[in-house]
Amino acid sequence: DPDPVAVPWQFGSLRVPSRLLMGSMHTGFEREGARLGAFYRERVEGGAGLIITGGYAVESRGRSVADDIDFSSPEVDEPLAESVRCVHEAGGLIAVQLFHAGRYSRGPGGPTDPPIAPTALPWRSARGVMPREMNAEDIAAVIEAFAAAARHAERLGYDAVEISASEGYLINEFCSPLTNRRDDEWGGDPARRLRFACEVLAAVRAATRLPLSVRISGDDLMPGSTTPEQVDELARLLVEEGADAISVGVGWHESTTPTVQYSVPHGAWLGVDDRVATAVPGTAVIGSNRVLNYREAQLALDSSSLTAIAIARPFLADPHVARGPQFTAIACIGCDEACIDRSLFGKPISCLVNPRAGFETQLPAGRVAVPKRLAVVGSGPAGLCAAFDAASRGHQVTLFERSDEFGGQLRLASLVHAKQDYGDGISSWVARLRHMGATLLTGIEPGTEQLADFDAVLVATGVQAREPELDVDGSVRVLDYASALELAPADPRGQGADLGRVLIIGGGGVAVDVGATLLARSSSMTLIRRGTKHFAAGTSPTTRWIPLGDLHAANAQLLQEATLIRVRDHLAYLEVAGQARRIEVDTVVVAAGSTPLVGVDLDALARAGVPFRVVGGARNADRLDAVRSTSEGVRAVREL
Ligand code: SF4
Repeated sequence: DPDPVAVPWQFGSLRVPSRLLMGSMHTGFEREGARLGAFYRERVEGGAGLIITGGYAVESRGRSVADDIDFSSPEVDEPLAESVRCVHEAGGLIAVQLFHAGRYSRGPGGPTDPPIAPTALPWRSARGVMPREMNAEDIAAVIEAFAAAARHAERLGYDAVEISASEGYLINEFCSPLTNRRDDEWGGDPARRLRFACEVLAAVRAATRLPLSVRISGDDLMPGSTTPEQVDELARLLVEEGADAISVGVGWHESTTPTVQYSVPHGAWLGVDDRVATAVPGTAVIGSNRVLNYREAQLALDSSSLTAIAIARPFLADPHVARGPQFTAIACIGCDEACIDRSLFGKPISCLVNPRAGFETQLPAGRVAVPKRLAVVGSGPAGLCAAFDAASRGHQVTLFERSDEFGGQLRLASLVHAKQDYGDGISSWVARLRHMGATLLTGIEPGTEQLADFDAVLVATGVQAREPELDVDGSVRVLDYASALELAPADPRGQGADLGRVLIIGGGGVAVDVGATLLARSSSMTLIRRGTKHFAAGTSPTTRWIPLGDLHAANAQLLQEATLIRVRDHLAYLEVAGQARRIEVDTVVVAAGSTPLVGVDLDALARAGVPFRVVGGARNADRLDAVRSTSEGVRAVREL
């Protein structure tokens, strides 16, 4: 059978060579033309049929954060044109995504220059900023701004335009009864609410002959919002107005349903995408969200009416993800830590499993002139990622893992409830390393003599759980977080409440993850943390609410300013905010941080004259941070 991804398709006047596209992502380095161009170039070379840029605002009021690209400003012309040139030089195609944040704008904002919206209704995270209801002039100005932006896209050399009418941005706001309470020609019933989208599209269509796609929200995931029938009707109307393709997204930024996080099953939204595709037969429809690799894209195309699939984060994890079905791409683990979380705060994005993402010019991909024999000690995220980068560049890599399994802390994370995808990250690194001929050894802690044989050594031995002194009698079981996770399989069905009443000491991300994972094996759950910080504070804002939500749903107690004094005869004596308290307990789990585990004699290595670097948790275990660890590992090997 022909590979459904590799069948070219027609997008307006454009023949697109692959059905796997790189979906829209704010990179945070759009103002750096060479950097953006190099980032895109690798993805084109990796097989992306079409690059879709991050959303660029059609006017300054339409920026979501002050740092967003204002496409109407000539200041960004040169870097954006340079990025387009890079794509074309690599033989690729690039569409610019145009948007207006509407009431989501936190750009100019403020009381004297508020965001504009169909109706003066603030959003959940508006922090007191009240939008102003758009008048007839505003509406006309924004429609013209979209048209002007499309003309400008042509001048800058883009191959196509995508209008963002999704994610709860301005056009989407006009469509929804939640945000459009008008009763004039722009609101009052479904037909009038959809009019703004149609007028924008008509104006853009008149302004440019470039192929035109519209990204709509297949399901807003907001109770009381636009119905599926109204969304399908919108798709039909947009096609009538001249859209060459419909791209389907899901969820508003303020929706409480996870859409792309690790806990969302792969392919979860294909049903929504396919429903829209069925509503506009004969028009190209692009599906997206939680399709993670080439094979999943093949399956999605085979089992739906979709024309193409846009994937975004997997292109960060591996720029070559679209290379073909036989190629094992480094897997995106859905953590959001270096991509969406950074983008939320206007910081440049990268990737936990691929620290080169966004740094393609600084950390080039080419092969080294003089390959080294490199030993990597430890196969946690830092070790695996560094070994992979080194092997990709031609070094001869030997990876030593003291336990029987690869992955270190990432393997433990893969045992956390719903985090199975983390295991895919490990297995993809291991498969690629093997494919490149690296030597991978388990059950070995190399001594100095063995390491002295190498040209350079990377020490990435990771961490061990901190073991605080506890005053605990023999009535309860005491586990550290690692042993607790080893106990709990990722799929906890049928385990029963064998841990009884569980008390977890610790309030960080690991404690919360362990708590959520052990819920299925406990009859009650209490977490205690010193200090007044929130539980899981400082961890990913886009994912921490998943385990916290599980804990709240199970009525777990989360106690701040709490210390365990002692345990006697199944009673834990606590001090909570200065008050004595007792709870019944059968199992105590310690998840109160980690300490470096340096399983290599560094002095002896130095005496032997072998260049080495210590990275990741082995260097600093204060705050386990896999993004820092992988970046450190890759950079250290390049400096060795
Ligand atoms: Fe995927 Fe995490 Fe990389 Fe983002 S940082 S692309 S979620 S692996």
